[in-house]
Amino acid sequence: MTTRVVVLGAGFGGLELATEVSGRCGAGVQLTLIDQAEGFVFGFSKLDVMFGRRPPEQVLHRYASMVSPGVRFIKATVTSIDPETRHVETTAGAFDADILVVALGADVHPEATPGLAEGGNEFYTVPGAFRCRDVLDKFEGGRVVVAVTSLPFKCPPAPSETALLVHEFLTARGLRDRSEISLVMPLGTPIPPSPKASEAVLAAFAERGITWIPQRLVRSLDPERRVAVLGDGGELPYDLFLGVPMHSVPQVVADSGLAVDGWIPVDPHTLETKYPHVYAVGDVTSVGTPKAGAFAEGQGAVAAARIVAAVQQRAPEAEYDGHGVCYLEFGDDQVAKVGVTFRPGQPPVGDLEGPSAELAGDKTTFGADRIRRWFGREWTTA
Ligand SMILES: Cc1cc2nc3c(=O)[nH]c(=O)nc-3n(C[C@H](O)[C@H](O)[C@H](O)COP(=O)(O)OP(=O)(O)OC[C@H]3O[C@@H](n4cnc5c(N)ncnc54)[C@H](O)[C@@H]3O)c2cc1C
Repeated sequence: MTTRVVVLGAGFGGLELATEVSGRCGAGVQLTLIDQAEGFVFGFSKLDVMFGRRPPEQVLHRYASMVSPGVRFIKATVTSIDPETRHVETTAGAFDADILVVALGADVHPEATPGLAEGGNEFYTVPGAFRCRDVLDKFEGGRVVVAVTSLPFKCPPAPSETALLVHEFLTARGLRDRSEISLVMPLGTPIPPSPKASEAVLAAFAERGITWIPQRLVRSLDPERRVAVLGDGGELPYDLFLGVPMHSVPQVVADSGLAVDGWIPVDPHTLETKYPHVYAVGDVTSVGTPKAGAFAEGQGAVAAARIVAAVQQRAPEAEYDGHGVCYLEFGDDQVAKVGVTFRPGQPPVGDLEGPSAELAGDKTTFGADRIRRWFGREWTTA
C-alpha cells in the first residue's frame, strides 16, 4: 500500500522533510509538497540582496525546476486544513493525507505597527528586503534605526547582523562619518543562549560605534516627525528605519484550530501534534527553539525519520535534540558559527566559533549543499 504524505510549506522544514521521506521510502510513499511561492529563498539571502551582495535573481530557487525524485510539487495556496480528517483544501484542489505535515512557517505583519508602512521599511519578507536594496542605494547618510517591533521573531541574530552590515555598507560608500546606527532589541543580549557570541557582537558594536538599545521594542513610527516610538514611550529620531514586523502563524493555520496561544504545540521530541498522524515543524510551532531555518531543518529531519519508520512499519527511534547551528555575519567577509541547544526544562546552551573568512566559505557551502540535496541541482551564481 502506498502512504500518502502531504507536506504543507516548502521552506527549510518542508524541503528537508520531503527530501528525506521521498528519498528513503521510494515508491512506498506518494509525497505531495504544496507551497504558494515561486521558489525558496534562504533567510540570509534576503540580507545578501538588501546589501547588494547578490542580485535578486540569484537567490530564488524555483520549485518548478525541482528535480527531487518522488516529490510531486503543487504550486497552490492552502485555504483550509482539517487536522481531524487530514483533509486539506487549496487553490489547486483538495488533498487527503495518511500523514500530514504542517511546515507553513511564520507570516509577518508590517501593518500591525502603526506608521511602519508609511514611514519605514521592513526587511523580513522577500519583497521587503528586495525593496530595501533600492532604499539603501539612495540613502545619503543620517540616523539609521534597526528595530524589532514584537516577540517572537525569526532568526534572533538577524537584526544584529543587519546593524553590522549597515555599518559595512555605509563605510564602503563613504557615508559612515555622517551616519549614526542604533539597534533596538527586546532581548538583554544579542544572542542570549550564547554569552560568548553576545560578547563578540557587543564588542563589534562598540568598535564600530553602533548604539545597542536592549530590552526595548518599537511600537510605532511617526512618519511626519521621523521618530520611532519605543514601548516605554521614549522616542528615537531616524532618517532610515529598518524594522522587523510582528509575526504570527499563517491565517489558514489560525483557522484550523491547530494553534494554541498563537503557535502549534508539538511534542518536543517527536514533532507530533495532538492529532494522530499530523506533524508540525519549524517556525509555525511553539516547540521551544528559536524560529530559524537551522532548527526547522533539524525538526524536519526528525519528523521525516519517524514518518519513514511508520511507512516501513518499524518503531520510530529518532528524537529531536533541540540543537541548531547558525551563521552570524559581522561584515567584511567575517562570519561566525553559533551552535545552540534548547532542551525542554533546561536552560539553553551555546558556543561560538570565529568570526573568520573561512567560516564565510563554510556558510556558502552550507547553502550550496542544501540546494543540491533539496532541488537536485547546483546553486549556480553565474
Ligand atoms: C532576514 C532574515 C535572515 C535570516 N537568516 C537566517 C540564518 O542565517 N539562519 C537560519 O537558520 N535562519 C535564518 N532566518 C530564519 C529562517 O528564514 C526561517 O526561520 C526559516 O525559513 C523557517 O523555516 P520554516 O520551514 O519553518 O518556514 P519557511 O521557510 O518560512 O517556509 C514556509 C513556507 O510556507 C509557505 N506558505 C505559507 N503560507 C502558505 C499557504 N497558505 N499556502 C501555501 N504555502 C504557504 C511559504 O510560501 C513558505 O515557503 C532568517 C530570516 C530572515 C527574515
